[in-house]
Amino acid sequence: MSYTKKNTLRAEILVVDDTPSNLGLLFKILGKNGYKIRPVTSGQVALEVALISPPDLILLDILMPDMSGYEVCQKLKLDPQTRDIPIIFLSALSEGLDKAKAFQIGAADYVTKPFQIQEILARVNNQIMIISQKQQLEREILQRQQTEAALRSQYQREQTLNRMIQAIRNSLDLEAIFSTTVTGIGNLVEAMWVGIMQYSSNEETWQLVEQYLPGTSFLSLQKQEIFPTNNFLAEQLEQLQNFCLDRVKQSTDSLNWLEQYSKVCLPIPIYLNEKVWGSLCIVRHQSCPWTESDLQLVKVIADQLAIAIQQSQLYQQLEQANKELERLAHLDGLTHVANRRKLDQALQKEWRRLQREQLPLSLILCDIDNFKGYNDALGHLAGDYCLQKVASAISNCVKRSADLVSRYGGDEFAILLPNTNSTGAIQVAELIRAEIQKLKLPLPQSQCEGYVTLSLGVSSLIPTSETLPEELVTLADKALYQAKKQGRDRVMNQSG
Ligand code: GH3
Ligand code: MG
Repeated sequence: MSYTKKNTLRAEILVVDDTPSNLGLLFKILGKNGYKIRPVTSGQVALEVALISPPDLILLDILMPDMSGYEVCQKLKLDPQTRDIPIIFLSALSEGLDKAKAFQIGAADYVTKPFQIQEILARVNNQIMIISQKQQLEREILQRQQTEAALRSQYQREQTLNRMIQAIRNSLDLEAIFSTTVTGIGNLVEAMWVGIMQYSSNEETWQLVEQYLPGTSFLSLQKQEIFPTNNFLAEQLEQLQNFCLDRVKQSTDSLNWLEQYSKVCLPIPIYLNEKVWGSLCIVRHQSCPWTESDLQLVKVIADQLAIAIQQSQLYQQLEQANKELERLAHLDGLTHVANRRKLDQALQKEWRRLQREQLPLSLILCDIDNFKGYNDALGHLAGDYCLQKVASAISNCVKRSADLVSRYGGDEFAILLPNTNSTGAIQVAELIRAEIQKLKLPLPQSQCEGYVTLSLGVSSLIPTSETLPEELVTLADKALYQAKKQGRDRVMNQSG
């Protein structure tokens, strides 16, 4: 009903009466009281006027020559455009039956002629008040429905946002974080495209690291450089500003890929330790302009993204540091070959593996000859240097990746040779002995031409469930003892 747009005092009343004097009187009374009156003298004209411009209220005479008030009323009630307009009947007929018929066909009220001015006014005012209250009620219901819908949508948005933030924060995997972010934002703000760009300050370039592309309508972007050096976007990001595509258009023609479509681009900078790490860019269709609440939402996500990136970077550094620690924990500090702990672990592991495969495992234990004398004659530092040279020479003699050179303790080294039988192990041992001789490290008062030499004991076994790895060590130790006993600078073998 059009009444909602009108002032209450200017409510429009269609007065239908075939008696001009009645019309004149009603026109005067109601007009004086602020109503806008449209007088007509026949039922047919009343129907036409009501249809063209529905009034707020109709005063309708019952007895008229061409068409009775009842008939007019019935026709008005049949038409959806006019059926809600309240009708007050005016009639000289005052019989109860007439009134009953009037109400039966949809009348809102009934006034008997000759009418009292006060009564007419009271009944008209009453109807107008009912209309006004009804409209007020409808407005309130609509408002409440709109508020409920807004609250529901706000609640759903917050739920989605919370789930997304949880997912971002709980992950340490950057690829998963990026993917969750772009998809989450894309859905939340109904974006045409969402991209995460990483900035390289060394090369001054922007690299697309992840994107969300819901439809095929938008240009498909590959992982490539998007924003060239020193462009407007980069400057804006540096200054922590958000801006729309229109401003980019005025300043650079480098974003042709965006200009081809009518949309709005929102780049949000991502800062790590007060430096630009990159940017979160969201493209929406021009028909959905950015609202303050959208901006707040996207900024919250960008902040969470920055925290997650930082967390992930710290985790990666920690993993790297742990790996380095692990490496150092297995190294001998002086000679930089493996230490005794690493040898023990490798021996256990290879023993189990070769027991399954029923292949031989060999061990060479070697010890520098007369090293005490070397230290005594040349000093401890020279002794350390000698140990380093010997370790490096031994390392050069083993070729397979599974072979392990370790410092067993003091001037003693152990070389573990998986998948190697005693012949092979003796060959390696002889090679090591020859390499040490080649070093020609001078040994004062030595019986062996005055150079540092090595005694080596070799053991080989095919591991079984009845034997222990320690047996391999015991055998190699025995062989080493024999090498020492038989004059040093030699290889002896003890195989099971
Ligand atoms: P042998 O031929 O019987 O092996 O005689 P040796 O003098 O070498 O006797 P042994 O192997 O028992 O001596 C080990 C010596 O190695 C004792 C110690 O002075 C020296 N040594 C052990 N660890 C180090 C080290 O880290 N640096 C230096 N400079 N010397 C070490
Ligand atoms: Mg020794």
